[in-house]
Amino acid sequence: KPMKDPLDLLDLASVLTDEEREIQATVAKFLADRVRPHIGEWFENAHFARELAPELGKLGVLGMHLEGYGCAGTNAVSYGLACLELEAADSGFRSFVSVQGSLSMYSIWKWGSEEQKREWLPRLAAGEAIGCFDLTEPDFGSNPSGMRTRAVRDGGDWILNGSKMWITNGGIADVATVWAQTEDGVRGFLVPRGTPGFTTQDIKQKMSLRASITSELYFDSVRLPDSARLPLAEGLRGPLSCLNEARFGILFGAVGAARDSLQAAIEYADSRVQFDKPISAFQLTQKKLADMTVSLGSAALLALHLGRLKDQGRIRPEQISVGKLNNVREAIAIARECRSVLGANGISLEYSPLRHANNLESVLTYEGTNEMHTLVVGQAITGYPAFR
Ligand code: FAD
Repeated sequence: KPMKDPLDLLDLASVLTDEEREIQATVAKFLADRVRPHIGEWFENAHFARELAPELGKLGVLGMHLEGYGCAGTNAVSYGLACLELEAADSGFRSFVSVQGSLSMYSIWKWGSEEQKREWLPRLAAGEAIGCFDLTEPDFGSNPSGMRTRAVRDGGDWILNGSKMWITNGGIADVATVWAQTEDGVRGFLVPRGTPGFTTQDIKQKMSLRASITSELYFDSVRLPDSARLPLAEGLRGPLSCLNEARFGILFGAVGAARDSLQAAIEYADSRVQFDKPISAFQLTQKKLADMTVSLGSAALLALHLGRLKDQGRIRPEQISVGKLNNVREAIAIARECRSVLGANGISLEYSPLRHANNLESVLTYEGTNEMHTLVVGQAITGYPAFR
């Protein structure tokens, strides 16, 4: 007889608190009702279901690990579990929630003025406003320190010029957190939608994260008051602190994409008969399922451990790199292997594994590529930075 819950062979659910389990189940239920029935179609049509933003706000997942200003203020593990469920539905939704909560809202929450927090955080938490986070440029991805977007003083104002690339939510954002060079180093600015000189163009022909909006942003002599500057952010530490938050959500999220792929493969292998037997009865299929169960369990355990460290306030950036590097790498390998179990059906959007694998190509690249996280871990071990 197969196990009751083969997707949690290690019984990790038993080490969660009641509240954590409840939050996870609530998010999973919302996604089962509102996202899963449509996600194949949305992915095919490159549609982001923007109308779900206020519903995600009501659910409490936007900026859910932040305190105050209408945010839920849960622990880090609960936030991670929400990301896990979101990404089990589709990485596009987890990306939306990560960018909104961990990048846009966190940048304001951590580095903003009281006035900026009051103006934006409650609306962003409710999903009434959408935020984006603009670091990457056409010529500067892994090395944001070379950014060309520049803000110069003009009396009491700032004039912003430059462009940003590959920005999640860019085309629909009500407020953009823009990182720019100034004569004092990198600074962050809040640029509301509709500010003269600020325009966007969505990126088409994506083969990954199709149910999510990714855009190019242009700033042509955009005039901003000094009150648009995030007063507490100085240097690259500002954006990097936000990325650490988002990466934490990703290392849980990847586990969700892997789990959902494995679920599809286990179910399919049980129902598909070849040579007069379910394909799950063949040793080669069992080896695939067993290996994937081992790596899924290890990834989930790693995520949970890092979540507990974060809740104790002692997680370090290189530990988050270990988590992002391992879990996204394992998740993409699992999603691809699951696709193979499904044979020809594996290439159809009726089943999730290839959609997850394609989505994970973006997850492998954004928030620091796996090469960058390898170098972070390498430096932590040896003391030598090998980035240049
Ligand atoms: P590059 O930096 O040009 O790297 C190309 C390759 O070279 C990679 O494999 C990289 O690992 C490797 N490489 C580079 N330097 C080294 C080195 N020193 N040693 C070894 N290998 C190296 N950015 C944002 O600011 N905001 C967003 O909301 C956002 N959303 C995104 C959404 C999607 C769907 C995607 C795909 C990207 C998004 N990004 C976003 C951008 C993302 O963060 C960058 O793509 C990422 O940082 C990598 O930059 P790059 O694409 O310019 O690649």
